[in-house]
Amino acid sequence: MLSLTELSVAETDLLRLMADFFAENPKITAGLESYTSAHYALVSTYSEHFEVPEQEARRLLEGLREKVTLAQYLQIEPSDVNRKVELLSESELIMLRVMIDYFSENPKIVASNSHFADADELADAYHWFFGPPDRVDGNALARRISAELVKKLQNSGTIHMETLASVVSTPNPYEGALKQLDIAAEKLNLTPMIHEMLRHPMRILVVNVPILMDDGNTRVFTGMRVHYNDALGPTKGGIRYHPNVTIDEVTALAAWMTWKTAVIGLPLGGAKGGVRCNPKTMSNGELERLTRSYTRAISKFIGPDTDIPAPDVYTNAQTMAWMMDEYSEMLGHNAFGVVTGKPVNVGGSLGRNEATSLGLTYVVIDGAKHLNMELKGATVAVQGYGNVGYNAARLLRDNGCKIVAVSDSSGGIYNSNGLDPELVLKHKEETGSVLGYRKGKAISNEELLTSECDILVPAALENQITKNNASRVRAKMIAEGANGPVTPEADEILFTRGIFLIPDIVANSGGVAVSYFEQVQNQMNYYWTEEEVRNRLKDVIDKAFANVISVMKQHKVNMRTAAYMLAVRRVADAMMTRKGMKGIPT
Ligand code: NAD
Repeated sequence: MLSLTELSVAETDLLRLMADFFAENPKITAGLESYTSAHYALVSTYSEHFEVPEQEARRLLEGLREKVTLAQYLQIEPSDVNRKVELLSESELIMLRVMIDYFSENPKIVASNSHFADADELADAYHWFFGPPDRVDGNALARRISAELVKKLQNSGTIHMETLASVVSTPNPYEGALKQLDIAAEKLNLTPMIHEMLRHPMRILVVNVPILMDDGNTRVFTGMRVHYNDALGPTKGGIRYHPNVTIDEVTALAAWMTWKTAVIGLPLGGAKGGVRCNPKTMSNGELERLTRSYTRAISKFIGPDTDIPAPDVYTNAQTMAWMMDEYSEMLGHNAFGVVTGKPVNVGGSLGRNEATSLGLTYVVIDGAKHLNMELKGATVAVQGYGNVGYNAARLLRDNGCKIVAVSDSSGGIYNSNGLDPELVLKHKEETGSVLGYRKGKAISNEELLTSECDILVPAALENQITKNNASRVRAKMIAEGANGPVTPEADEILFTRGIFLIPDIVANSGGVAVSYFEQVQNQMNYYWTEEEVRNRLKDVIDKAFANVISVMKQHKVNMRTAAYMLAVRRVADAMMTRKGMKGIPT
């Protein structure tokens, strides 16, 4: 499977500098005198121009050489936004490898004789190793290739690379998902056969879809859909568009969906999907063609009674509208219930947008009661100010809390007198970040996580609270808005320190609960008011919270283990009942 990666800004700068050495009108290297070697010329010029130590420039060059050696395709997005993205031809990619070799400390292809970058040497080496046998024409061709490559690199803005090398994500999320299952299985004394079955997804479909791109080229994108377990009902889970999405990641997410729907008592199983693409570099038309083709390719795998996708990272209500439309066209009649998270005017549910944060607010209210904590005036820090973070801040403030700190990927702000969530959002919309908001002192994300507050809501990314900072967390309660923001080692530390943690599969399950409501409304073709949606959500969440707390007390475990025990038991019991076997004794 191809993996797409973006070269870093520093790597792109280095490539542009290499090109500059051979350019007709060099911008940086015009006045340079001779150096002892091309390698030294590049390293010292880069070091001086970009003000980094030579050692770092050397490391950068080596890393770039390794990456380009593994590249299957290289796309150049020009700095001028009006020009189209260009794919390097096969010969240009080879020439690029020759060029990087030329500047390396120990060149393997180009034995440089000169004391300065020499385009003739480059063309000679290319021709000698890779070019056609004809000496004269071959050399002229090599010169044309290098000139074209230099021009493209000089005008590059961002460089994307596709490689067959596997993307290693550390830690592997599927291994993590299995560990959590194993802990619950041991506590439940789960039958080994059922345990073994739950350690594997039911089925995985991988599809390759050819898409006509705006520049007239056809590109093939790899997509996948994983059905983890459907013992409790049709499978449900989002579709992620990301360059580096892997089968292990999608499988882990599908497993988590299985536990999330089970723990809150929905009659659904778990699934997840992904397409390896970079939506940031694709036009709306390309994304629509990709979505429709992917839908056709997985159409036998999805359906209102079998598997119901939803939006996830870099997919949204529009993506779901395209999927529903394509699927309906294939059937010859409307099938609104095939996906959820749709726009409200084509079968979406009222209240879906804030559902995750509303569910989180309900568990925080339940958690405060459990801890005998007064919610009025309780101080809250929220990491991440996107859909989940902002709405959580707003809804918790509406319930009497004081939002003292919020952050986004650029950093955070703190005000012990409280921040106004709407005004902070307005500032973020105007400037791109919460940072710089007039009534907040700038803090780092690390400071936010360890700031003085009663309730901490990590609502950004995974692996934020780790063994390195868990001992400094000062909150009394943590409600996980994001998926997996606390590592297992940190879990232990927080539990020992008596910090009450409401795990993600309960705390952020409001989204999937309202997705389920959307599907129910689609099937009835009868739609609820926002108030009805909110009330039903409250019922589901409150019941789930109470059930998990009861397992927690009975087995004297932390809330995460209790939530997994409840979810795994429900799925295992359904599997056994369906086969006429006795469930797990309570
Ligand atoms: P989003 O893209 O709307 O917002 C993410 C926010 O996190 C942005 O403000 C971004 O700037 C910030 N961020 C990124 N890196 C950060 C960092 N290092 N430090 C601090 N902030 C950082 O996404 P979202 O929909 O709000 O989702 C947030 C999390 O909640 C994700 O883990 C997602 O999987 C999870 N989640 C979302 C939903 C949902 O319905 N949206 C449901 C369940 C779980």
